[in-house]
Amino acid sequence: KITPASRLQTLPEQFFAALVAKANARAATGRDVINLGQGNPDLPTPHSIVERLKEAADNPKYHKYPPFRGFPFLKEAVAERYKEDYGVDLDPEKEVAILFGGKSGLIEISQCLLNPGDVCLVPDPGYPDYWSGVALAGAEMAFMPLREENDFLPDYSAIPSEALVRAKLMFLNYPNNPTSAVATPEFYEETVAFAKRNGVVVASDFAYGAIGFDGKRPISFLETPGAKEVGVEFYTLSKSYNMAGWRVGFAIGNPEIIELINLIQDHMYCSLFGGIQEAAAEALTGSQESVRELVATYESRRDVLYGALEEIGWKATKPAGSFFCWLPVPEGHTSMSFADLLLEQADVVVAPGSGFGTSGEGYVRLGLLTTEDRLREVAARIGRLGLF
Ligand code: PLP
Repeated sequence: KITPASRLQTLPEQFFAALVAKANARAATGRDVINLGQGNPDLPTPHSIVERLKEAADNPKYHKYPPFRGFPFLKEAVAERYKEDYGVDLDPEKEVAILFGGKSGLIEISQCLLNPGDVCLVPDPGYPDYWSGVALAGAEMAFMPLREENDFLPDYSAIPSEALVRAKLMFLNYPNNPTSAVATPEFYEETVAFAKRNGVVVASDFAYGAIGFDGKRPISFLETPGAKEVGVEFYTLSKSYNMAGWRVGFAIGNPEIIELINLIQDHMYCSLFGGIQEAAAEALTGSQESVRELVATYESRRDVLYGALEEIGWKATKPAGSFFCWLPVPEGHTSMSFADLLLEQADVVVAPGSGFGTSGEGYVRLGLLTTEDRLREVAARIGRLGLF
């Protein structure tokens, strides 16, 4: 008999794996299911990036093990992009770690910093993979509720002191999944002061950093004075360049933490395939026109969907960034019962807010991840249920 290690017993079921299985089961019955549940970009990777991979695949230099910690050209490309976009200076060798998507780093940082008995401050609602990393490290979580009346920013003064004294790490994520809120410079300044005062490391998840609407560019945590002393930022090419399947991202910031992440990766992997690293460098150093087009596409989809939802009487604040819509469920429903109803009666998949934490109850998350016509169809199908 196989006995799993105890750390796996605290690991929650992978939320999106369960959601995808439910949607697929429905589609397998032959229904025309529209899936806005998982954050899986529907647009293709820009052509120039794909071409760079194709060329690189033929280069025998990449057929061997890549260097530990990745090729210098990719780390330099990361530093250049951050300098250009955010005015942040990074030492490519000491302050950049190449990752397998953002996800690998978000799990690894808990392994790097947390011992059993330590506490990690986690946003609620929030991206469920933060919980998995903390569980695998055998540490505990203290949730920081994100409330609409507080613009979905955590209130540090409300963290119970018994959790705060044991807190070693904190996750933040703006533009936010699932609420789509964005951070302000003042909030990040408060965060640096809080982190210094309490000896907490900040892990800023900037997965949606490129996606800001209405002409506003989301800010990086590392733009804040003193941020590099207290934390690191995680970036992924999955969303900004439609490269979710390529599994490439990076961590940047505090050199001591970057060294720990690299150390773990030295043991677990070696680095990414060189061709993927070339393609990622192409994404970061090539024309950024595709990113502008992608943001314009999501913004236009947002306007179409919110216009159509308003017509059926479902009103909510428009997202400021990310590609998610965070919408209140109608009275008499939980987020799960409403998500099930939409699947069963409208063939529309949405993510129930409770899947992102207890403070997510009362909301559902819809991704802007299909065409404008299909988004109109979503609103029409929901409208026919006569719930609003
Ligand atoms: N962080 C957030 C908030 C996300 O929504 C996602 C993906 O959905 C990730 C990180 C991880 O992305 P990846 O592992 O594809 O880089």
